[in-house]
Amino acid sequence: MCGAVSDGGVERLWAPDRLAYVQGENRPESDEAGEGCPFCRAPNVGETGVDEAGVEEAASLVVARGTHTYVVLNLYPYNPGHALVCTYRHVAAYVDLTPEETHELAALTQQTLVALTAAFAPHGFNMGMNQGSVGGAGIAAHLHQHVVPRWGGDTNFMPVVAQTKVIPQSLPDTRDALREAWPR
Ligand SMILES: [Zn+2]
Repeated sequence: MCGAVSDGGVERLWAPDRLAYVQGENRPESDEAGEGCPFCRAPNVGETGVDEAGVEEAASLVVARGTHTYVVLNLYPYNPGHALVCTYRHVAAYVDLTPEETHELAALTQQTLVALTAAFAPHGFNMGMNQGSVGGAGIAAHLHQHVVPRWGGDTNFMPVVAQTKVIPQSLPDTRDALREAWPR
């Protein structure tokens, strides 16, 4: 699943021709909570990729669930394993998190780092939040912390959220590997 990385070929890691296809997709039309917000919706997406009527649908990319926060793979990863730690609650500002949300966001971020290290042995990480559209948040209305694994030579400059790049890998495979590696 990380063949593009182990091959060491940046031109194979990125798929710029697919960028236009994904950029508009899943972008909410409003700032409201609910089905229109991908981070409100993500925890409720089914596990199988097939609904009860047997119709194919998006499979859950949730890696781990806490009480107040959860970890989901970024649908538009910058690197393989690019994960997002999100609150269940639709909240935009870091200062508006409850103490419980703040604590668990940090704890799940640490667990994400442990799992990514065990699964993919990255050389380093970028972690951070972009608050507000002007701060580069793609989905500004629902706070999310990025955890991006880095490998030597993947790129020299890292605009974490201003641009996302698609990686031709199986997101469900990455999800399964992280679930397997998740610290117990
Ligand atoms: Zn939301």
